[in-house]
Formats: sequence, C-alpha cells, structure tokens
Amino acid sequence: MAQDDQLKKLISHCKEYGFIFPSSDIYDGLAAVYDYGQNGVELKNNIKEYWWKFMTRLHENIVGIDAAIFMHPKTWEASGHVAAFNDPLIDNRDSKKRYRADNLIEEYRDKLYAKIEKDVEKAAKRFGDKFDKEKYLATSENVQKVQQQINELTARYDKALNENNLEELRQIILDCDIVCPISGTKNWTEVRQFNLMFSTKMGSVSDEQSTIYLRPETAQGIFVNYLNVQKTGRMKIPFGIAQIGKAFRNEIVARQFIFRMREFEQMEMQFFIRPGQELRWFKYWKTMRRKWHEALGFGSDNYRFHDHEKLAHYANAATDIEYNFPMGFKEVEGIHSRTDFDLGQHQKYSGKNIQYFDPELNQSYTPYVIETSIGLDRMFLSIISGSYTEEDLTVDGKADSRVVMKIPPALAPVKVAVFPLVKKDGLPEIAQKLMKDLMYRFDCRYEEKDTIGKRYRRQDAIGTPFCVTVDYDTLKDNTVTIRWRDSMKQERVAIDKVADIVSENCDINNILKRLADEDIELPEA
Ligand code: ATP
Repeated sequence: MAQDDQLKKLISHCKEYGFIFPSSDIYDGLAAVYDYGQNGVELKNNIKEYWWKFMTRLHENIVGIDAAIFMHPKTWEASGHVAAFNDPLIDNRDSKKRYRADNLIEEYRDKLYAKIEKDVEKAAKRFGDKFDKEKYLATSENVQKVQQQINELTARYDKALNENNLEELRQIILDCDIVCPISGTKNWTEVRQFNLMFSTKMGSVSDEQSTIYLRPETAQGIFVNYLNVQKTGRMKIPFGIAQIGKAFRNEIVARQFIFRMREFEQMEMQFFIRPGQELRWFKYWKTMRRKWHEALGFGSDNYRFHDHEKLAHYANAATDIEYNFPMGFKEVEGIHSRTDFDLGQHQKYSGKNIQYFDPELNQSYTPYVIETSIGLDRMFLSIISGSYTEEDLTVDGKADSRVVMKIPPALAPVKVAVFPLVKKDGLPEIAQKLMKDLMYRFDCRYEEKDTIGKRYRRQDAIGTPFCVTVDYDTLKDNTVTIRWRDSMKQERVAIDKVADIVSENCDINNILKRLADEDIELPEA
C-alpha cells in the first residue's frame, strides 16, 4: 500500500471506530489538534499505564510527579526556550505555503537515500543469490556518486545549523533545486526563526510581566521540582523523576495526523546521576527503552536508533528511537544526556542552591541528567499503524474480508466482548451475568444486535482480543464459545474459565515481568 494511502486509511478508520476525531469537528476541526474518542482514550490510558509501571514500579529509584502546565516565566528564560526554541521557516511566494527549511533539506536528503536503496533493490534482482550488498555499495559508481552528494550536503547542512546561518540554509535549498510541492517553483522568501512557544496572559493586568507560556515540554516541571522531590523523598543519586502531561508547540507545519500536533502529550523521565557517569547511564537507558518498545511485539526491524551528530547546546550525547511509521522511519522517543545544564541554569536564575551532597564521595555537585522523552501520541500512532491489518478471507470463491486491529492484547481498549447468540430464552441474562463478573477486572463490551459474524467484525475493528458467545449449549453444560481475534480460532470452554483466559493473555503485568527479568547491568562507558 502506498504510504499516503495507508495513513489516509488509518485516519478514517480511527474516526469511524471512535479512536481519534479532529478537534471541534462540528466546526470543521482545528489544525493539528485532535480529540481521542471512546476507544482512543482507553488505548491511550493503557499506553500510559505500560510506561508508568515500567518506569516507576520496575525501577525502585524512580518516582512520579504531576506538575502544572503554567510555570513561572523565568523557567523558560533559564531553560533557553525564550531565546532559542525556534524553527527556521521559509515561505513559497507563489503557493503562499509555509515550510520548515530544515525539513525541506532533510526530505531532499531522504530522497537521495531512497535512490541508493532503489539501486540496491534493482541490483539484488539482477544478481539473485550471488548479490553481495556490502560489495555493491562499496563499488557501484552510481551509489558512490549519490553517497558523495549526501555527504557534502550533510556537512554543509550541519555547519549551517550549528552556526545558525539562515542565509546558508536558504542557499542550500536553492542549490539543491528544491521546489515547493504545491506550486512547483523556487520562489522562496528569506529564512526566519520562529519561536514555537504559545504565550498567554495571566491575571487581569495585561502587561509584559504577566506573559506566561504553555509549557513546550514537561521536563522543566521536573527540574524545578528536583529539590522538593529529592528532599521529601530522601532520594539518593542515582534516581529519576517521571511525569506524563500535556505540552504545546506552535508547529510551523503540522501534517501527518497525530505525528506532529500543536497540543500533545509527553511521557518524560529525568534521571539524576553523578557527573562522569552520564555515558554509562545513557547506554543503559538506550537499551532499556528499546526493550520496552520491542516487548510489544511489532518486530525489532521496525525500530532503529538515530544517533545525533548535531547536539543541542546542553547535550553531550543524544539518540532517537525511530519507528517505521507509514511515512517511513521517524522519531518516537528521544534519549538525551543533558549534562548539568538545566539544574545549573535554574540554580543561576532562581538563586537557590541545587547541589547534591554525595555521602559516598563526601562531595557536593550539581547532578547530571539523562532524559528519556517519548510522545504519547506518536507512540499511539506507532501502535495503531503496526496493528492495522486488512485480511482477505475469501473461501471457495466466496468473497470476504476484514479489517482487524492487532493491538497487543495488553493495550487493547476492550479486552473481551460478550454476546448472547439470540435475544431470548434466557441467553441475554447469562451473558449479562458473565459481563458483570468480568467488568471489575477488564474493559468489556456487551452486544446483542446483528449476527454474530457482524459483531465479530465490529470487535476486530477496534482490536478486542476475545469475543465470548453464550448459546443454547450454555444452558445445558455451562460452556461458552471463546473466539481469538488474530487466529479467529473458536474454542468451547467452561464459563468460569473465561476470566483466566483473558487475564493470561491480556495482563500488562506479564509483559512487565518479562522486562523485569531482562534488566541489565550498568554498562561501561
Ligand atoms: P521533532 O524533531 O520531530 O520535532 P523533537 O526532537 O523536537 O521532535 P523532543 O523535543 O525531543 O522532540 O520531544 C520529545 C518527544 O515528544 C518526541 O520524541 C516526540 O515523540 C514528541 N513530540 C515532540 N513534538 C511533538 C509534536 N509536535 N506532536 C507530537 N509529539 C511530539
């Protein structure tokens, strides 16, 4: 399926089945803002639970907080966001469309990479079993030429970004003949910096003093609470603080559904450590976070690391965990070694002492920080795009198909649906009793309308792992039919075994236990 088609199908499926709606839909939506529907909110809550339990319960030395969205304006001066939380924007004069200059260049570079991949594919077909990819990459003239173009472009682009050279960014766009996808022209404006923070006024007096920002990341809420938590929790380094909450960014170009939103949610953890230990902990968290993603079963090939060459001014190592979205590999989580920059800045701006006395070293220092930062909405998108499956079920020329969301059972919005075969003869009463027994433990649905086949399809479309049907045999022997979502296998089981089967297959703790068993030693630097 073409990438665009796949994303479009996903967007309409999400709307049709109550996962995600455009915000203020009856007013035709608001750009890059979305609402989660009845099934979306359950999936989202399950993702949060999976993250929260992994971070705070599986790591004794990590605790959570829930800081306010509004923060003292000085926070954002100290963090550098007022001065430098910018994206370089450029307009096309003909289409009047606005773009991020860095994105235009990166997309152009992606096309060069795609050229190489296409070449490799063609050669693999030509040479068959004898094909040696490494050798081909090292010797093909065509590949070498494109690779050199990529290298030159990357060096020039990184230098321009590092030097904040906006003219050079524009010149790269012109030199690479990058055109506006709408107008097809190179009639570009200058590149300007655009601050991504939303601001508003607090209180009734609107002067400069009262300007406050909607937080563009949750991390600062953790840094400004470092002392409170460390002291009241009697935390000893190394320790972490985790938080889930909304963040806001006035993104210049907001496309690709919930991948880039103006209001979104982050799940961030700041891990406070001794200076000098940062590269070891950076490696530890890189491994652990990737394990957390891969434990969901979407296949390790669908994840990759992208180590940053260009580092933010405060970082001394950074990587992204990228997922293979319908639009290609893109960042879902960032892991950053942030040094003592943030705590150091807050110490300076607030005048408060944020030093930690380390009894083992008999020494005070400003702790270093490793951050893991994941976008909840991007994680949601990775799960639904990995789960969306169209299946052809044609048998003996009788056409049939289904759309099934193969969401990991532990995260599925509804765990079990209960159906009476018909709406009479006491079957609904037994089904409702079963439903009442199950509903304290699992999110359940009760359905009695339409044929069983149609009810199955509706549950497949929202990813319900189990459907249970009460029929006439139930009256005789207290058994029910339980149907598995992915295999569509049906089994006859005792009614009082249903809860155990659902629990065995849908309990988030089973994944967490496996992850706990795989904990790793702190690696060497
Ligand atoms: P990008 O380069 O894609 O703009 P970023 O590097 O600015 O992302 P971070 O500041 O590291 O992102 O934010 C941490 C995480 O928050 C990202 O990995 C992503 O999952 C999520 N995130 C950031 N911006 C958005 C957004 N506009 N919409 C949805 N999620 C976002």
